[in-house]
Amino acid sequence: MALTGLDIFKLLPKTNCKKCGMPTCLAFAMQLAQKRAELTSCPDVSEEAKQTLAAAAAPPVRQVKFGTGDSKVQMGQETVLFRHEEKFYDPTILAATASDQLQGDDLIQRIKAINGLQFDRVGTHVAVNALAIVNDTGSPESFATAVAAACENSKLALILIADSPQAIGAALGKCADKVPLIASASADTVEAMAKLAKENKCPLVVKAETLDGLVELTEKAKGAGVEDIVLSLEGTSLKEQLYGGSSIRKLALKKSFRALGYPIFSLASGKTDDERISAGAALICKYSSVVVVDSINPAVFLPLLTTVMNVYCDPQKPVQVESKLYAIGEPDETSPVIFTTNFSLTYYTVESDVEASRVPTHILVVDTEGTSVLTAYSGDKLNEKAVADTINKLDVEKQVSHRKLIIPGYVAVMSGKLEEATGWEVMVGPRESSMLPKYLQEVWS
Ligand code: SF4
Repeated sequence: MALTGLDIFKLLPKTNCKKCGMPTCLAFAMQLAQKRAELTSCPDVSEEAKQTLAAAAAPPVRQVKFGTGDSKVQMGQETVLFRHEEKFYDPTILAATASDQLQGDDLIQRIKAINGLQFDRVGTHVAVNALAIVNDTGSPESFATAVAAACENSKLALILIADSPQAIGAALGKCADKVPLIASASADTVEAMAKLAKENKCPLVVKAETLDGLVELTEKAKGAGVEDIVLSLEGTSLKEQLYGGSSIRKLALKKSFRALGYPIFSLASGKTDDERISAGAALICKYSSVVVVDSINPAVFLPLLTTVMNVYCDPQKPVQVESKLYAIGEPDETSPVIFTTNFSLTYYTVESDVEASRVPTHILVVDTEGTSVLTAYSGDKLNEKAVADTINKLDVEKQVSHRKLIIPGYVAVMSGKLEEATGWEVMVGPRESSMLPKYLQEVWS
């Protein structure tokens, strides 16, 4: 929990010497509490105060990373329980599984299928971020062989899922340089697993059925020198996992309970793909930082990646597209010009309707700070000046020979002022984007 100005004041020398540039220690403490000053500005602060203040400033949920280079992923470091309070920072890492029961080409085909779980959605490229190799055989040798195949055939961050320290040790012999996430240490294996994690500088998942069990394990792992810990409530129902996830986050954020101030690891299990999707989406919403799904079906991962996108976007910043002149089909200088706003949902709706018309078209996207047409108009972010400035900035007049601009029917009221500001003839298009194909085919043509 953040310290108040008075809490900080109690830790300062209270000599009012002014060396920090503040008239009093209390004034300096108030500035520190508001993060407007650095503790280093006080040369006389004690070591004990430094440590207390540093501990209080540490994030309530520790950031943990695994993987290397471009495949490195990170989780944790969240500061709020609810997205609308600020935003969530590190999106949930989605992993797909490959069992070490698979061998040869079957294993390689599965790994390649996981590599291919990538999609373009509303202008953003999204993909599965990790590959989880599962020690279903129980054999350290088979596990190490499967992990070696994963290293050869995938650049994704690795998760090693095995109960036995021997299997994890054998796998680390093949991939320790890739900094995999080790999953998972139980009460019986925590000492051996923590030793492997520490020696190989890898983060470690600890698993238990209760919060008390997790606290015990995190303290043991920490005592063994492992700082990067991830929590897993395994062997419990989905309901208990969701309830436990909420409790962990609340205790970490609201009570500064350091023993549970770590990211959460979950398995989205289910007998069918629909069950896996439901479980995965619920776990993403309730604070799981890593969700492992036993599937390679793109129809499972697209909705889960969409959930991650939605939960982890900044609620104060609508998803936007770049303000520019987009070519749909192969438009030429005689093709129509339609304008819309840079709210991505609006743009992609218009884009798909224009595509459906099969009339090559220029779409002029006006920057309205990511708001839709009516919202932008009522907030004066969409007006004749904004449209005219965009036409000039993007040199639209050099790209078409005509001077006709199709505008959304909802802002027909702009027509007169827009014609004056641009010198273009305004054509009022349909109110609903879905009517654009008919409009372009019948009215424009
Ligand atoms: Fe107080 Fe330190 Fe500032 Fe001096 S430098 S006034 S001791 S906070």
